[in-house]
Amino acid sequence: MRRPTVTNPYVIVGGGVAGVSAAEALRGAGFDGRVVLVGEEQEYPYQRPPLSKGLLRGEVAPDFASLRSPAFYETNAIELHLGDRVTRIDPRARRVECASGTRFEYNKLLVATGGMPRVLRVPGSDLPGIHYLRTLAQRSVCARSCSSIRTFWWWAVVSLVVR
Ligand SMILES: Cc1cc2nc3c(=O)[nH]c(=O)nc-3n(C[C@H](O)[C@H](O)[C@H](O)COP(=O)(O)OP(=O)(O)OC[C@H]3O[C@@H](n4cnc5c(N)ncnc54)[C@H](O)[C@@H]3O)c2cc1C
Repeated sequence: MRRPTVTNPYVIVGGGVAGVSAAEALRGAGFDGRVVLVGEEQEYPYQRPPLSKGLLRGEVAPDFASLRSPAFYETNAIELHLGDRVTRIDPRARRVECASGTRFEYNKLLVATGGMPRVLRVPGSDLPGIHYLRTLAQRSVCARSCSSIRTFWWWAVVSLVVR
């Protein structure tokens, strides 16, 4: 495992592909200070494209989407602070504050927080069965919803055939 030398870390906010790639690139370029990656989601950083494909169809396990193995972060001394949201950045104090109360003083800061789905604002957009798909957790909800639709159609077809 690498031994970081600088006290105040390079803090990366956002545990998506951009944040992880930045952390990896820092180590690849020989940066030997502390690297802290703060991500709102509980899971190890993962890629999103499989959420709407193999993962939604239940063809692959959730760890299929993992960007890197847990050992990668250990080996490269990338400190993960997951399941916590950065709520405030104080550039004068060079500090980020998280919802949990955890604070990180930083030497350098990268904000890689990605985007959010645009919320549908049309009549009926609050009806049950309308879902947004951006996270692993939302993928589970969508998959359950799709499977209940499949079950409905299966029963509808069976009912028609039996009549
Ligand atoms: C369902 C789905 C399918 C997709 N399919 C494709 C595809 O087939 N091909 C393709 O090219 N692209 C696809 N994309 C787009 C692609 O996934 C994005 O371009 C990519 O994820 C962007 O990476 P990112 O790291 O910039 O942002 P994100 O992946 O959004 O990561 C940002 C991270 O920052 C975290 N974060 C946000 N705010 C805070 C905060 N305040 N504190 C701490 N953490 C925070 C978020 O929780 C998230 O984990 C898809 C996206 C989705 C949602």
